This record gives sequence, C-alpha cells and structure tokens, in this order.
Amino acid sequence: MPDYKLLTPGPLTTTETVKKEMMFDHCTWDDDYKQITQKIRKELLKLAHVSEEEYTAVLMQGSGTFGVESVIGSSVGDQEKILVCANGAYGERMAEIAQKMGKNTVVYRENYDRIPDAAKVAEMLKEDPEITHVGIIHSETTSGILNDIAAVGKAVKAAGKTFIVDAMSSFAGVDIDVPGIGIDFLVSSANKCVQGVPGFSYIICRRTALAACEGKSRSLSLDLYDQWVTMEKDGKWRFTSPTHTVLAFAKALEELQEEGGIQARAKRYLENNRELIRRMEAMGIRPYIDAEHQGPIITTFFYPEGKHFSFDEMYRYIKERGYAIYPGKVTDADTFRIGNIGEIYLEDIDRVCDTLEAFLKEHCQEVA
Ligand SMILES: *Cc1c(COP(=O)(O)O)cnc(C)c1O
Repeated sequence: MPDYKLLTPGPLTTTETVKKEMMFDHCTWDDDYKQITQKIRKELLKLAHVSEEEYTAVLMQGSGTFGVESVIGSSVGDQEKILVCANGAYGERMAEIAQKMGKNTVVYRENYDRIPDAAKVAEMLKEDPEITHVGIIHSETTSGILNDIAAVGKAVKAAGKTFIVDAMSSFAGVDIDVPGIGIDFLVSSANKCVQGVPGFSYIICRRTALAACEGKSRSLSLDLYDQWVTMEKDGKWRFTSPTHTVLAFAKALEELQEEGGIQARAKRYLENNRELIRRMEAMGIRPYIDAEHQGPIITTFFYPEGKHFSFDEMYRYIKERGYAIYPGKVTDADTFRIGNIGEIYLEDIDRVCDTLEAFLKEHCQEVA
C-alpha cells in the first residue's frame, strides 16, 4: 500500500482516529444518528461565531462544489442577479455554476495574483442596482491568495445585498467573524480544515436569507431550503447521507476542540506556511503571491530559475519519500503548489523541504 502524507488542500491527511471512526456501518434512521447530525450542525455554528437565532447550518451531500451550486441555485431567483468576484479557478467555477443555471450573472475578474477590490465592488453595485447577490472566494486555493472578505462584505452590506462566501479551504483554518462580516451564506466541506474525509459540504446560512430561498431551486437534490426543512425537524438527511464521512467528521470536530479550537489550528497552519516559504526562499524558490496577500493554507511557487527542472520528476521523487504535492493551477506562469493543512506539522514541512533540496541537488543541473 502506498504510504504518503498529502500536502494538498483537501482531501488532506487526517488522523488515524478520524479514519478509524469509519470502520462502523451506522444506520441512518434512528435517533443516535440524527443526534450526531444535530451536534455537528450546532458545533459548526459555534465555529462560525453565530447564534442559533440568527443562523443555521445545513449539510449537503457531495463535494464542496455541490454546496456552492446548492447556494447559488437556491438563493438567486429568476428576477435577481449575482455579481461574482473571480481571481482564480474557484471564482471562475462559481460564475460558471451561475451561468450554467441560467442566472443573471456579472463577473468581476482580477488577475490571479491580486485581490478583488472592495471599492470596485461598491462601484459595480452602485452602477447596476439589479445586482442582488455577491459571491466571492475567501482562500483562493488556485493560488493561495487570501481575499479580503471583510472589506468586500462591508461594501455588499452597505448596499443591502446578499453575501455568499466560498470559504471552502479556509473555514476552521482561519478564524472568520461570520456575523461581523455580514455573511449570509458561507460554504465549506468535510475534507478541508476541519480535517474530515470527503463526502459532504456544509453551509452556514443566515435564517432570513435561507427563508428567501423557498421554492427557487430548479434542482431537487441541491435544494438548500428543502434540505434544511427536513434536517431542521430532527436531524434527518433528505436522501442517503455519507454515514462514514459523517461519523469521521464528528470525530474531527472533537479533535479540533482538543487541539485548542480554530485559534490553535490557525496558528499551526500559519507556522507551517511561514516555515515552508522561508525554506523555499532559502533555496531560491519564490512564491507567486506577495507576502501581504499570501494566505496560510497553500502556497504557489515558481519553478526554480536557472535549472533544468521537471515537475513530474520532482513529484515522483518526493512521493517516494512520503509526501504528495500539487501541480500549479495559475494560468500565467509555470508553478507548483504545496499545501500545509491537515495533520501536518513543522517536522513534515522541514522533511519535505529537505527532500526537495536533495532533489534539486541530484537532478537539476544549472542551465549553462
Ligand atoms: C476545495 C475547494 C472547493 C470545492 O472543490 P470540490 O472538489 O468540489 O470539493 C471550492 N472552492 C475552493 C476555494 C476550494 O478550495
């Protein structure tokens, strides 16, 4: 069996104890199971710093994209219009979801190494009063940039619009003041910073915004409102739920608390990230995003300059020595990515950097 840790931004490396939870085939109809779902929903609200009076959490089968699609499809009505801020592949994906479903969509594009500008969002909202919703990515996993959702949220709220945040790769790894920022729908998934395994996404919803979704969805299975109505009764999922994933996620939430909550996890991730960048820069490998906007989740690096370099060769070399890294996804430069979330510690960062250093020495001659 291959044995390596994932330095990818989800799925990520989970603990043995989280994996072990999946060794049981739980039934879905009885109270035990429904209580697990209810407990997860409550705990997610706590992590988001929201009250149960104002917000509710809905779990949705499928990967993170299914969660984003359920929010866009259920909240943007036929007479409404969404502005999507895109500075990476996930922003583009959100726009594509809206367009594919026939929603009135405008896209505000930024270069992948720049954050969307809150003043520009305010201006667009002023110029086009038909816009009712604004969507943005928090941690753009494409590059690793961390967008300023507080500033954009302020502009969105000042204009009285609905604010949708894809916080897939940041929630629980970066502390987010959901009510303070004024987020109406926040989407994340089981296999990101809570450190569970893939199988469902979750949406933290402002109750008033969720109530406005009733009857809008053209999809049965991704109807966020209907999913909530069923789940809100007693914790029952509408259709077959990923039971093993749910059990693993409940355990992962406990372990997040044991680690010291989001603050402690965010600190570990940030330390991993800064050590990674420090070591890479010492080898002459530069990050694609400026330090000011570099997030603590994943880093994009340029290929080393002045060397004969093959990503595939490096990937295989590192994987044989215990770590799986990630190819680049930005469109304007040759890059690769290294994630530092999941059950990953400074020892892992140093080990992977030592390995990379050895690879460069052994395999990458200087270009004459
Ligand atoms: C992981 C991720 C998603 C969801 O991707 P899936 O492959 O559907 O799980 C969406 N947005 C961002 C920013 C992500 O990092």
